[in-house]
Amino acid sequence: MTVFEHERQLLVVDCGVLFPEEHQPGVDVILPDWAAIRDRLADVVAVVLTHGHEDHIGGVPYLLRERPGIPVVGSRLTLSFVAAKLAEHRIKPTMIEVREGETLSLGSFDLEFLAVNHSIPDGLAIAIRTAAGLVLHTGDFKMDQFPLDRRLTDLRGFARLGEAGVDLLLIDSTNADAPGFTTAERELTPAIEAVFRDTPRRVIVSSFASHVHRIQQVLDAAHAHGRKAAFVGRSMVRNMGLAIEMGYLRVPKGLLVQASAMDRLPDREVTLICTGSQGEPMAALSRIAAGTHAISVGEGDTVLLASSLIPGNENAIYRVINGLTSLGANVVHKGNAKVHVSGHASAGELVYCYNLVQPAAVLPVHGEARHLRANAGLAVSTGVDRDQVLVAVNGDAVDLADGRVAITGTVEVHNVYVDGDTVGRVTEASLAERRTLGEEGVLTVIALIDADTGQLAEDPDVLARGFEHDAATFRPLTPVIEKALARAGEQGITATSRLEQLIARETQAWARKTFGRQPVVIPVIIDA
Ligand SMILES: [Zn+2]
Repeated sequence: MTVFEHERQLLVVDCGVLFPEEHQPGVDVILPDWAAIRDRLADVVAVVLTHGHEDHIGGVPYLLRERPGIPVVGSRLTLSFVAAKLAEHRIKPTMIEVREGETLSLGSFDLEFLAVNHSIPDGLAIAIRTAAGLVLHTGDFKMDQFPLDRRLTDLRGFARLGEAGVDLLLIDSTNADAPGFTTAERELTPAIEAVFRDTPRRVIVSSFASHVHRIQQVLDAAHAHGRKAAFVGRSMVRNMGLAIEMGYLRVPKGLLVQASAMDRLPDREVTLICTGSQGEPMAALSRIAAGTHAISVGEGDTVLLASSLIPGNENAIYRVINGLTSLGANVVHKGNAKVHVSGHASAGELVYCYNLVQPAAVLPVHGEARHLRANAGLAVSTGVDRDQVLVAVNGDAVDLADGRVAITGTVEVHNVYVDGDTVGRVTEASLAERRTLGEEGVLTVIALIDADTGQLAEDPDVLARGFEHDAATFRPLTPVIEKALARAGEQGITATSRLEQLIARETQAWARKTFGRQPVVIPVIIDA
């Protein structure tokens, strides 16, 4: 999420989500932190979306919950994905559909939209003109010269803007540390074909629920080899339904059937297309691998993972691959076949872009620190003034004034966690506690204390989770607590909260000595 400000008006470009990693247990998604503009949502002229990926649109429902009237601007496919999401949140948005080549004025921002290709159709780069200068934001993009839909990244438009003078270029960095050029999508066709040709039984394909072009390739291959295909999983069924309806996905007649109808077909005619390519535990593929899904796999089946491996998901993905392999399936993935290419421009394309646009200043965006650094290096290598290439972090404020850019301030930003129905209620501290609960277990110590003496009225009750234990396990804890309470009595400590703290501390120390573990301890004092 990037916020542009001019003459006290705000323009938001993209509002995505981040997916939790293993150290963030229980978190559904992570939102950008717009606390810094929460008091100024009335100044937002629109949220403009570059494309329909979750990391660019996933936060929109949460932003619109705070001010439902913010206009949402984007291409046809992007808006249809957002609308489906907003409907789930019961929000009826104001939408403005745009396409490449069009312009739109919103307050003091004059926008122009340019086609870019990426791993989802209908991506747009956005040129933003204000009195302060011309900014070009590429969104996520690559320069596939043979895209399946023939929609090329508008390099002529990029060059035209470059002629006019781009003051600041915000440019996708995701693949900046990969040398050369990103392979064309169509070069994957032989490897995908081979899967369909060589698999004796069922083919199960897992991909992102938005990768229309990859799924088109799969459908074409399935059709060519006399198979039927079915979509599995809520987001896959929903998004592909939309893509078919709007003509982005072309389905040969009679190819698609309901997943439930697959049971009646011979295995060699079956293709199932599902989500879960990132090892997400609740997605169809993970459940198939764990043997907890209605669809089971076995000898003779091939599972095709037609997707990238997002950093941070490696363990989860290999767990799924191992699970499927153990069940007898042949797993084809980017590690052993040419079944995936990146949706992002590699270093070679980025350099091309810099030389075409010749921006006065560059702000690498999208990607992790190493990608941003690599992209900054590329910009400098093409002759962009070194101190006009900014590597900013989340929260940084970048000023463009008199044709020069600088990081002039910063606002505080945190991860905003969505967990179930709560937004922003889970904190770093509660995640730390969840990790301790998960890794170390929990001991609840219930102490019945005589109000007159301040001492135990009977042995404390210990309820344990995450511990192998029997009746005798926690008996040695009784004298430890007795001694501590006696000491507290001598010092005149009687407040329940103080005594509870004491019990927690003593129990923790005892658990560390006895088990070498540091569980969460919940002390409960009951007056006898
Ligand atoms: Zn994207």
